[in-house]
Amino acid sequence: MRVLLVEDDHGVGGAIRDVLGARGHAVEWVTRGADALLRHRGADLLLLDLGLPDIGGLEVLRRLRRLAATPVLILTAQGTHERDVVRGLRLGADDYLLKPVRMDELLARMEAVLRRTARRDADGPAPSRVQINDIAIDLDTHLVTVAGEEVVLTRIEFEILAVLARKAGTAVSREQLLDEVWGDAYVAVSRTFDVHLSKLRKKLGQPSPLHNIRGFGYRLGD
Ligand code: CA
Repeated sequence: MRVLLVEDDHGVGGAIRDVLGARGHAVEWVTRGADALLRHRGADLLLLDLGLPDIGGLEVLRRLRRLAATPVLILTAQGTHERDVVRGLRLGADDYLLKPVRMDELLARMEAVLRRTARRDADGPAPSRVQINDIAIDLDTHLVTVAGEEVVLTRIEFEILAVLARKAGTAVSREQLLDEVWGDAYVAVSRTFDVHLSKLRKKLGQPSPLHNIRGFGYRLGD
């Protein structure tokens, strides 16, 4: 599996990387929370230290969960306040391990987390066609029609629409949209994004199926 290891302690990080690598896992190792947020895409699992030099692990987790459901195993030092572990689990971590980490236990927990999340995701393939009122979106062919008439979208407009359509009827954060369309939730494309979004909104017609959720993001359909 592809593992993103977020650990600023070089002894601990190096040991985990070596053991997982020897078991055939592809490990990317970063030492800062900000890097974890930029590199999480493509990882099957995050191993996340709570005490990081820039952004704390809990804050990393909170921001990550607005972007992705990637399984997260928290690594925490003995003596860390129990409340932090509980907060981590509430924020959506899948499990935690106390340091010093026993490698056989780490491997067993990683397998268990992946088995659980695989079951969670096994609800069947995502639909390739989404219908919102008189708007039909084909996610495979990229064909979009409004009341039977084809609407020509730019690549970015289609990608924004596709992210929202895959989660039709549910709220998608602005950060998640930026992350999925541009590959980075924190780049300075916010204003560009607003321009694309308003063009997309126009092309989809009235009443608009694109709802703003103040302070959070957007929802396609009711
Ligand atoms: Ca640390």
